Formats: sequence, C-alpha cells, structure tokens
Amino acid sequence: MRKFEDTYQHKGLRRQLVNVLKEKGITDEKVLDAINTIPRHYFLDSAFDKIAYEDRAFPIGADQTISQPYTVAYQTQLLQIRKLDKVLEIGTGSIYQATVLAELGAWVYTIERQKKLFEAQKGYYFKGKYPNIKFFYGDGFEGLPTYAPFDKIIITAAAPFVPPKLIAQLKTGGMMVIPVDEGDAQRMLRITKQADGSLLEESFEQFSFVPMLKGKNG
Ligand code: SAH
Repeated sequence: MRKFEDTYQHKGLRRQLVNVLKEKGITDEKVLDAINTIPRHYFLDSAFDKIAYEDRAFPIGADQTISQPYTVAYQTQLLQIRKLDKVLEIGTGSIYQATVLAELGAWVYTIERQKKLFEAQKGYYFKGKYPNIKFFYGDGFEGLPTYAPFDKIIITAAAPFVPPKLIAQLKTGGMMVIPVDEGDAQRMLRITKQADGSLLEESFEQFSFVPMLKGKNG
C-alpha cells in the first residue's frame, strides 16, 4: 500500500506552482486556492513525487496524461464555477481536474472511456472528502442524457468537433469549455447557450491535448 504524505516541501512547491500560474495570467483566486489545496502528487505515480509541481503534463497510464496545471486552471477559470453547479467532465483521467471542480463546490459527473483509468477511481484517495464526484465508464461523445441538463460541461481531450449531444445536454445559460482540433493544436472555445437557444462562441488560447476518441476501451 502506498503511503500518501503531504509534506512542507510539497506544500511549498505547490505555493510556487500557484505563483507560476499567476504569472502566466490565471487571476481567479478560488481556482488558485483550489490548486493550492489539492496535493497533485497524490494523483501521480510516486516516481513523480519530486516533479509533480512542475507546470507540466505527466503520463498516468493507458497512454493518457494528467493535464498541465496551467491548462486545468485555464479551463476551470473559463467555466466560472459556482457552488452546486452541476458539471459534466469528459475525460476523468487522473481525477485531478474533477477534484479541482469538486473543491470549488460543484457536483461533478465525470466520464472516462479507458476501463483501466475508470477502475482506478475505486482507489480514489479523496472519496470521503469529495462525495460530490460521480464516476462513469462510457463514451463522452454521448454525454450523460440521464443526468442532463448540466450547468457546465468541460472536455479535457482534443475534440475533433463540438459534439452536438453535449450541446443538447447544456442548460440555457450554461457554458461548455472545449479544446477543438486545429491540426497540431487545439483552440480553447467557450460556448454559452443563450436564452433564445443560440450559441455564443468565444475563442481563446491554443493548447495540446490527447485525442477525444469514440467508443469505450475495455
Ligand atoms: N481530466 C484529466 C485529463 C486526462 S487526459 C485529468 O485531470 O487527469 C484526457 C482523458 O480523456 C483520457 O483519460 C482519455 O482516456 C479520456 N477520453 C478521451 N476520449 C474520451 C471519450 N470519448 N469519453 C470519455 N473519456 C475520453
């Protein structure tokens, strides 16, 4: 059994990471506080213990990665999470992004298509602290029609297009943050469903994600 420890050194490195994120332009204090609170090294193999607070993506198995902290902070800031928001996440991965959303008080519904990563939630260290995360094994292109509509939707893999079924599962006034493919990189889009049903699309920086793939893998 791995022994998890959040030492003064880890806490210090985390504060430094928060400063790096501020320098890179993240301004939402609640998002920065959440990142300062959550021990990112718990979401990685112990081999990454010393480097877990570098602003980098790392492998988490099944050819997938935990997103770079800047990317997590950026997407979360764009989502403007409010307490009790019902949030759908596509791409559970390491559960780090879901934990940031849960720390902000959201009800998180997260879907993963890789069986191995989905199964890892059984050992999720913070199950007791964040009962507001629900885990699903499935294809994110389908969303979760049973639990729809959602206040917010976040896609944490490179989407080839904006999935229409996910737009349908967004509340009026709700927002989706999604990195959409542009060849080698993805453009971060924020799509707001307006009162008259039309979509407001805002375009932000470019990022690099692992691909959003169809179907389940298991
Ligand atoms: N949010 C994660 C990032 C993981 S990387 C974290 O905080 O660690 C993206 C994840 O999306 C991968 O785990 C990948 O398996 C998953 N994924 C890709 N396509 C998917 C789909 N169609 N449905 C659900 N998950 C998907």
